[in-house]
Amino acid sequence: SPKGRRKYKVVILGDGGVGKSALVIQFVCHRFLEYHDPTIEDSYEQQCRIDDEPAHLDILDTAGQTEFTAMREQYMRNGEGFILCFSLTDRRSFDELITYKHLINRVRAGEEMPIIVVGNKCDLEQKRQVKYEEGLTLARQLGGGKYFETSAFLRKCVDEVFHGIVREIKMKEKER
Ligand code: GDP
Ligand code: MG
Repeated sequence: SPKGRRKYKVVILGDGGVGKSALVIQFVCHRFLEYHDPTIEDSYEQQCRIDDEPAHLDILDTAGQTEFTAMREQYMRNGEGFILCFSLTDRRSFDELITYKHLINRVRAGEEMPIIVVGNKCDLEQKRQVKYEEGLTLARQLGGGKYFETSAFLRKCVDEVFHGIVREIKMKEKER
């Protein structure tokens, strides 16, 4: 069906080391990567069923900071949903998320993009530097208010994030 071919273009952004690649690879390949070259920027495709509808995700796993590569530029322009990821063990990465929101605003001026905020590494509870309530508050400031605490290591809440962004994209479409 045409619906089955519907592609959802998603971009994951956030500081180096927060676990963007680990989350994407857990979602797509069901395994935890101890190490993934932090300079590799690549896209991943995954078919799944979300709320009884087939969905085809095309996810750009970004690398590096806020500079633009040609691939990033193209994905930022065509992306339908954005996942803003920080590490719960690194407050700096939390404070930096606003920078990535500004980047989206710059590329997609005047558009209200679906956004989900993710606090990763929740398995490292004893190293936590950001409270759940702070993550939730930031999610409300930056986007629709959807906030998830994840662990790529334990595969905790990983599907919820990627299914969640598709749900947000669908909701925005229905509003139009
Ligand atoms: P990226 O630069 O944002 O793509 O981060 P990576 O996915 O390369 O992860 C950076 C480091 O954090 C790697 O050593 C990962 O193994 C580790 N890591 C990623 N996610 C988690 C997690 O949920 N829990 C723990 N304990 N470590 C993680
Ligand atoms: Mg990476």
